Amino acid sequence: MTQERPAEPMLSIVVPMYNEAPVIDAFFARVLPILAGLVRDYEILCVNDGSGDGTLEVLLAHHECNPHVKIIDLARNFGKEQALTAGLDAARGDAVIPMDADLQDPPELIATFLAKWREGFDVVYGVRESRDSDSLAKRSTARMFYRLFNRLTEVRIPENTGDFRLMDRRVVAALRRLPERNRFMKGLFSWVGFRQVGVPYRREPRAAGQTKWSYWRLWNFALDGITSFSTVPLRLWSYAGAAVALFAFLYAAFLVVRTIVSGVDVPGYASLMVVILFLGGVQLISLGVIGEYLGRLYREAKGRPTYLVGRTYGLDGDE
Ligand code: UDP
Ligand code: MG
Repeated sequence: MTQERPAEPMLSIVVPMYNEAPVIDAFFARVLPILAGLVRDYEILCVNDGSGDGTLEVLLAHHECNPHVKIIDLARNFGKEQALTAGLDAARGDAVIPMDADLQDPPELIATFLAKWREGFDVVYGVRESRDSDSLAKRSTARMFYRLFNRLTEVRIPENTGDFRLMDRRVVAALRRLPERNRFMKGLFSWVGFRQVGVPYRREPRAAGQTKWSYWRLWNFALDGITSFSTVPLRLWSYAGAAVALFAFLYAAFLVVRTIVSGVDVPGYASLMVVILFLGGVQLISLGVIGEYLGRLYREAKGRPTYLVGRTYGLDGDE
Protein backbone atom coordinates (compact mmCIF):
# COMPACT_ATOMS: atom_id res chain seq x y z
CA MET A 1 0.00 0.00 0.00
CA THR A 2 1.93 2.91 -1.28
CA GLN A 3 -0.60 5.71 -1.54
CA GLU A 4 0.66 8.71 0.44
CA ARG A 5 -1.92 10.36 2.66
CA PRO A 6 -1.66 13.93 3.91
CA ALA A 7 -0.71 14.10 7.59
CA GLU A 8 -3.43 16.68 8.28
CA PRO A 9 -6.21 15.73 5.89
CA MET A 10 -9.20 17.87 5.25
CA LEU A 11 -12.45 15.95 5.53
CA SER A 12 -15.66 16.72 3.64
CA ILE A 13 -18.96 15.34 4.87
CA VAL A 14 -21.76 15.54 2.31
CA VAL A 15 -25.29 15.39 3.67
CA PRO A 16 -28.32 15.46 1.37
CA MET A 17 -31.31 16.81 3.26
CA TYR A 18 -34.92 16.78 2.27
CA ASN A 19 -37.35 17.89 4.98
CA GLU A 20 -34.96 16.96 7.76
CA ALA A 21 -35.63 19.92 10.09
CA PRO A 22 -36.56 17.70 13.10
CA VAL A 23 -33.27 15.82 13.01
CA ILE A 24 -30.67 18.47 12.16
CA ASP A 25 -29.89 19.58 15.72
CA ALA A 26 -29.35 15.99 16.82
CA PHE A 27 -27.23 15.38 13.73
CA PHE A 28 -24.80 18.19 14.47
CA ALA A 29 -24.78 17.46 18.20
CA ARG A 30 -23.49 13.98 17.44
CA VAL A 31 -21.30 14.61 14.39
CA LEU A 32 -19.45 17.80 15.33
CA PRO A 33 -17.62 16.49 18.43
CA ILE A 34 -16.56 13.38 16.54
CA LEU A 35 -15.13 15.37 13.64
CA ALA A 36 -13.41 17.87 15.92
CA GLY A 37 -11.70 14.95 17.67
CA LEU A 38 -10.55 13.32 14.45
CA VAL A 39 -9.26 16.01 12.11
CA ARG A 40 -8.17 19.61 12.29
CA ASP A 41 -9.95 20.76 9.14
CA TYR A 42 -13.31 19.62 7.90
CA GLU A 43 -16.43 20.86 6.16
CA ILE A 44 -19.99 19.65 6.42
CA LEU A 45 -21.68 20.27 3.11
CA CYS A 46 -25.40 20.23 3.68
CA VAL A 47 -27.35 20.01 0.46
CA ASN A 48 -30.85 21.28 0.98
CA ASP A 49 -32.84 19.36 -1.61
CA GLY A 50 -35.78 21.72 -1.91
CA SER A 51 -37.15 21.12 1.58
CA GLY A 52 -40.42 22.75 2.51
CA ASP A 53 -40.23 22.37 6.28
CA GLY A 54 -37.71 25.02 7.36
CA THR A 55 -34.63 22.82 6.91
CA LEU A 56 -32.77 25.77 5.37
CA GLU A 57 -33.52 28.03 8.33
CA VAL A 58 -32.25 25.46 10.82
CA LEU A 59 -29.13 24.94 8.69
CA LEU A 60 -28.52 28.69 8.48
CA ALA A 61 -28.59 28.93 12.27
CA HIS A 62 -25.85 26.28 12.45
CA HIS A 63 -23.89 27.93 9.64
CA GLU A 64 -23.95 31.24 11.55
CA CYS A 65 -22.17 29.79 14.56
CA ASN A 66 -19.93 27.28 12.79
CA PRO A 67 -18.13 28.17 9.56
CA HIS A 68 -17.41 24.48 8.94
CA VAL A 69 -21.10 24.05 8.18
CA LYS A 70 -21.67 24.98 4.54
CA ILE A 71 -24.95 24.96 2.68
CA ILE A 72 -25.86 24.27 -0.92
CA ASP A 73 -29.46 25.26 -1.40
CA LEU A 74 -30.81 23.53 -4.52
CA ALA A 75 -33.40 25.34 -6.59
CA ARG A 76 -36.00 22.62 -5.90
CA ASN A 77 -36.26 18.97 -4.90
CA PHE A 78 -34.08 17.05 -7.33
CA GLY A 79 -33.82 13.75 -5.47
CA LYS A 80 -31.17 12.19 -3.29
CA GLU A 81 -28.77 11.11 -6.04
CA GLN A 82 -28.76 14.61 -7.50
CA ALA A 83 -28.33 16.23 -4.10
CA LEU A 84 -25.42 13.91 -3.42
CA THR A 85 -23.90 14.81 -6.79
CA ALA A 86 -24.18 18.50 -5.96
CA GLY A 87 -22.36 17.89 -2.68
CA LEU A 88 -19.60 15.81 -4.28
CA ASP A 89 -19.09 18.52 -6.91
CA ALA A 90 -18.51 21.12 -4.21
CA ALA A 91 -16.46 19.01 -1.79
CA ARG A 92 -12.88 20.19 -1.28
CA GLY A 93 -11.64 17.53 1.11
CA ASP A 94 -8.82 15.01 0.74
CA ALA A 95 -11.44 12.47 1.71
CA VAL A 96 -15.18 12.79 1.21
CA ILE A 97 -17.92 11.05 3.17
CA PRO A 98 -21.55 11.06 2.03
CA MET A 99 -23.89 10.54 4.94
CA ASP A 100 -27.64 10.55 5.58
CA ALA A 101 -28.99 13.27 7.80
CA ASP A 102 -31.13 10.94 9.90
CA LEU A 103 -28.22 9.41 11.87
CA GLN A 104 -28.90 5.97 10.44
CA ASP A 105 -25.24 6.00 9.48
CA PRO A 106 -23.34 6.09 12.79
CA PRO A 107 -20.77 8.93 12.63
CA GLU A 108 -18.56 6.98 15.07
CA LEU A 109 -17.61 4.81 12.11
CA ILE A 110 -15.76 7.71 10.49
CA ALA A 111 -12.73 6.96 12.68
CA THR A 112 -12.53 3.46 11.20
CA PHE A 113 -13.04 4.83 7.70
CA LEU A 114 -10.14 7.22 8.19
CA ALA A 115 -7.88 4.49 9.56
CA LYS A 116 -8.54 2.26 6.54
CA TRP A 117 -8.00 5.20 4.21
CA ARG A 118 -4.65 5.89 5.87
CA GLU A 119 -3.77 2.22 5.34
CA GLY A 120 -4.06 2.92 1.63
CA PHE A 121 -7.64 2.10 0.62
CA ASP A 122 -9.31 4.61 -1.68
CA VAL A 123 -12.88 3.68 -0.86
CA VAL A 124 -14.04 2.44 2.53
CA TYR A 125 -17.74 1.55 2.50
CA GLY A 126 -20.00 0.65 5.37
CA VAL A 127 -21.67 -2.76 5.18
CA ARG A 128 -24.92 -3.04 7.10
CA GLU A 129 -24.56 -6.00 9.39
CA SER A 130 -28.21 -6.24 10.14
CA ARG A 131 -31.17 -4.53 8.61
CA ASP A 132 -33.34 -4.89 11.70
CA SER A 133 -34.37 -1.30 11.30
CA ASP A 134 -35.93 -2.10 7.91
CA SER A 135 -39.16 -4.02 7.44
CA LEU A 136 -39.08 -7.63 6.23
CA ALA A 137 -40.61 -6.60 2.90
CA LYS A 138 -37.95 -3.95 2.38
CA ARG A 139 -35.16 -6.36 3.27
CA SER A 140 -36.32 -9.07 0.91
CA THR A 141 -36.98 -6.72 -2.00
CA ALA A 142 -33.56 -5.14 -1.46
CA ARG A 143 -32.02 -8.59 -1.53
CA MET A 144 -33.79 -9.49 -4.74
CA PHE A 145 -32.64 -6.26 -6.29
CA TYR A 146 -28.96 -6.85 -5.45
CA ARG A 147 -29.12 -10.39 -6.82
CA LEU A 148 -30.74 -9.28 -10.06
CA PHE A 149 -28.47 -6.27 -10.48
CA ASN A 150 -25.31 -8.25 -9.92
CA ARG A 151 -26.45 -10.92 -12.38
CA LEU A 152 -27.37 -8.48 -15.10
CA THR A 153 -24.43 -6.11 -14.90
CA GLU A 154 -20.67 -6.22 -14.97
CA VAL A 155 -20.22 -4.02 -11.93
CA ARG A 156 -20.65 -5.68 -8.55
CA ILE A 157 -22.48 -3.72 -5.90
CA PRO A 158 -21.57 -5.27 -2.57
CA GLU A 159 -24.78 -6.35 -0.87
CA ASN A 160 -26.11 -4.24 2.02
CA THR A 161 -24.05 -1.19 1.29
CA GLY A 162 -25.48 2.28 0.98
CA ASP A 163 -23.99 5.63 0.21
CA PHE A 164 -22.27 5.82 3.60
CA ARG A 165 -18.57 5.51 2.75
CA LEU A 166 -15.30 7.37 2.61
CA MET A 167 -13.83 8.20 -0.78
CA ASP A 168 -10.42 9.55 -1.60
CA ARG A 169 -10.43 12.80 -3.56
CA ARG A 170 -9.21 10.90 -6.63
CA VAL A 171 -12.30 8.73 -6.53
CA VAL A 172 -14.52 11.78 -6.28
CA ALA A 173 -12.67 13.33 -9.22
CA ALA A 174 -13.33 10.14 -11.20
CA LEU A 175 -17.03 10.24 -10.32
CA ARG A 176 -17.23 13.85 -11.42
CA ARG A 177 -15.89 12.90 -14.84
CA LEU A 178 -18.91 10.68 -15.51
CA PRO A 179 -21.16 12.83 -17.63
CA GLU A 180 -24.39 10.88 -17.26
CA ARG A 181 -27.38 12.60 -15.78
CA ASN A 182 -29.12 9.53 -14.49
CA ARG A 183 -26.96 9.10 -11.43
CA PHE A 184 -27.41 5.77 -9.76
CA MET A 185 -24.69 6.46 -7.23
CA LYS A 186 -24.37 2.97 -5.79
CA GLY A 187 -23.58 1.64 -9.24
CA LEU A 188 -21.25 4.50 -10.11
CA PHE A 189 -19.36 4.03 -6.83
CA SER A 190 -18.62 0.45 -7.84
CA TRP A 191 -18.04 1.22 -11.47
CA VAL A 192 -15.10 3.56 -10.82
CA GLY A 193 -13.18 0.79 -9.06
CA PHE A 194 -10.06 1.78 -7.07
CA ARG A 195 -8.97 -0.03 -3.93
CA GLN A 196 -12.15 -0.71 -2.02
CA VAL A 197 -12.81 -2.30 1.34
CA GLY A 198 -15.94 -2.85 3.42
CA VAL A 199 -16.41 -2.21 7.14
CA PRO A 200 -19.38 -3.77 8.95
CA TYR A 201 -21.71 -1.58 11.01
CA ARG A 202 -25.12 -1.63 12.58
CA ARG A 203 -27.66 0.53 10.85
CA GLU A 204 -29.69 2.39 13.39
CA PRO A 205 -33.34 3.38 13.13
CA ARG A 206 -34.09 6.88 11.93
CA ALA A 207 -33.46 9.45 14.71
CA ALA A 208 -36.50 11.56 13.84
CA GLY A 209 -38.72 12.41 10.90
CA GLN A 210 -39.70 9.78 8.37
CA THR A 211 -38.34 7.99 5.33
CA LYS A 212 -38.71 9.67 1.95
CA TRP A 213 -38.72 6.42 0.03
CA SER A 214 -42.05 4.85 -0.83
CA TYR A 215 -42.09 1.44 -2.50
CA TRP A 216 -43.07 3.05 -5.77
CA ARG A 217 -40.04 5.34 -5.55
CA LEU A 218 -37.80 2.38 -4.71
CA TRP A 219 -39.16 0.45 -7.68
CA ASN A 220 -38.35 3.33 -10.03
CA PHE A 221 -34.96 3.67 -8.39
CA ALA A 222 -34.30 -0.02 -9.09
CA LEU A 223 -35.37 0.39 -12.72
CA ASP A 224 -33.03 3.38 -13.07
CA GLY A 225 -30.21 1.35 -11.60
CA ILE A 226 -30.62 -1.65 -13.85
CA THR A 227 -31.23 0.27 -17.05
CA SER A 228 -28.23 2.51 -16.50
CA PHE A 229 -25.85 -0.41 -16.03
CA SER A 230 -27.20 -3.20 -18.20
CA THR A 231 -28.56 -3.76 -21.68
CA VAL A 232 -29.53 -7.36 -20.92
CA PRO A 233 -33.25 -6.45 -20.70
CA LEU A 234 -33.01 -5.19 -24.29
CA ARG A 235 -31.15 -8.20 -25.59
CA LEU A 236 -33.51 -10.61 -23.87
CA TRP A 237 -36.14 -9.97 -26.54
CA SER A 238 -33.94 -11.26 -29.34
CA TYR A 239 -33.83 -14.57 -27.54
CA ALA A 240 -37.51 -14.49 -26.67
CA GLY A 241 -38.27 -13.80 -30.35
CA ALA A 242 -36.02 -16.65 -31.47
CA ALA A 243 -37.69 -19.05 -29.02
CA VAL A 244 -41.20 -18.09 -30.17
CA ALA A 245 -40.19 -18.37 -33.84
CA LEU A 246 -38.71 -21.81 -33.24
CA PHE A 247 -41.84 -22.93 -31.47
CA ALA A 248 -44.01 -21.57 -34.33
CA PHE A 249 -41.88 -23.42 -36.85
CA LEU A 250 -42.19 -26.75 -35.01
CA TYR A 251 -45.91 -26.23 -34.56
CA ALA A 252 -46.34 -25.50 -38.29
CA ALA A 253 -44.53 -28.73 -39.14
CA PHE A 254 -46.79 -30.60 -36.74
CA LEU A 255 -49.91 -29.07 -38.37
CA VAL A 256 -48.75 -30.03 -41.85
CA VAL A 257 -48.18 -33.62 -40.80
CA ARG A 258 -51.47 -33.79 -38.96
CA THR A 259 -53.38 -32.38 -41.96
CA ILE A 260 -51.82 -35.00 -44.27
CA VAL A 261 -52.62 -37.82 -41.85
CA SER A 262 -56.10 -36.91 -40.65
CA GLY A 263 -57.33 -34.18 -43.02
CA VAL A 264 -58.41 -30.59 -42.36
CA ASP A 265 -60.37 -29.72 -39.25
CA VAL A 266 -61.76 -26.25 -38.79
CA PRO A 267 -61.98 -25.67 -35.00
CA GLY A 268 -59.13 -23.76 -33.43
CA TYR A 269 -60.71 -20.52 -32.29
CA ALA A 270 -59.58 -20.92 -28.68
CA SER A 271 -56.02 -21.84 -29.50
CA LEU A 272 -55.79 -18.99 -32.03
CA MET A 273 -56.99 -16.49 -29.43
CA VAL A 274 -54.48 -17.73 -26.93
CA VAL A 275 -51.60 -17.48 -29.37
CA ILE A 276 -52.59 -14.01 -30.57
CA LEU A 277 -53.05 -12.65 -27.06
CA PHE A 278 -49.84 -14.22 -25.86
CA LEU A 279 -47.81 -12.78 -28.70
CA GLY A 280 -49.54 -9.41 -28.36
CA GLY A 281 -48.56 -9.34 -24.71
CA VAL A 282 -44.98 -10.34 -25.41
CA GLN A 283 -44.67 -7.66 -28.06
CA LEU A 284 -46.09 -4.97 -25.81
CA ILE A 285 -43.73 -5.90 -23.00
CA SER A 286 -40.74 -5.78 -25.32
CA LEU A 287 -41.89 -2.42 -26.64
CA GLY A 288 -42.23 -1.22 -23.07
CA VAL A 289 -38.67 -2.26 -22.30
CA ILE A 290 -37.39 -0.46 -25.39
CA GLY A 291 -39.45 2.54 -24.26
CA GLU A 292 -37.75 2.51 -20.87
CA TYR A 293 -34.37 2.81 -22.51
CA LEU A 294 -35.55 5.28 -25.12
CA GLY A 295 -36.99 7.54 -22.44
CA ARG A 296 -33.73 7.53 -20.56
CA LEU A 297 -31.80 8.17 -23.75
CA TYR A 298 -34.10 11.11 -24.44
CA ARG A 299 -33.45 12.50 -20.98
CA GLU A 300 -29.70 12.20 -21.44
CA ALA A 301 -29.86 13.68 -24.94
CA LYS A 302 -31.57 16.83 -23.72
CA GLY A 303 -28.52 17.46 -21.61
CA ARG A 304 -30.26 19.38 -18.85
CA PRO A 305 -28.08 19.87 -15.79
CA THR A 306 -28.35 17.22 -13.08
CA TYR A 307 -29.29 19.84 -10.51
CA LEU A 308 -29.54 23.60 -10.13
CA VAL A 309 -28.13 25.51 -7.20
CA GLY A 310 -30.25 28.32 -5.84
CA ARG A 311 -27.69 29.74 -3.45
CA THR A 312 -24.72 28.61 -1.43
CA TYR A 313 -23.56 29.60 2.03
CA GLY A 314 -19.94 29.30 3.13
CA LEU A 315 -18.56 28.08 -0.20
CA ASP A 316 -15.87 29.89 -2.17
CA GLY A 317 -17.33 32.57 -4.35
CA ASP A 318 -20.80 32.86 -2.85
CA GLU A 319 -22.69 35.92 -1.68
N1 UDP B 1 -33.08 12.78 0.60
C1 UDP B 1 -32.85 13.83 -0.30
N2 UDP B 1 -33.73 14.07 -1.31
C2 UDP B 1 -34.84 13.30 -1.50
C3 UDP B 1 -35.06 12.21 -0.60
C4 UDP B 1 -34.16 11.99 0.43
O1 UDP B 1 -31.86 14.56 -0.16
O2 UDP B 1 -35.60 13.58 -2.43
C5 UDP B 1 -32.12 12.55 1.70
C6 UDP B 1 -32.75 12.51 3.08
O3 UDP B 1 -32.90 13.80 3.61
C7 UDP B 1 -31.74 11.67 3.87
C8 UDP B 1 -31.22 10.71 2.82
O4 UDP B 1 -31.55 11.27 1.54
O5 UDP B 1 -30.66 12.45 4.35
C9 UDP B 1 -31.82 9.33 2.98
O6 UDP B 1 -33.21 9.42 2.99
P1 UDP B 1 -34.13 8.53 3.95
O7 UDP B 1 -33.53 8.46 5.31
O8 UDP B 1 -35.52 9.05 3.84
O9 UDP B 1 -34.03 7.13 3.23
P2 UDP B 1 -33.90 5.68 3.94
O10 UDP B 1 -32.83 5.78 4.98
O11 UDP B 1 -35.25 5.41 4.52
O12 UDP B 1 -33.55 4.77 2.82
MG1 MG C 1 -32.72 7.04 6.42
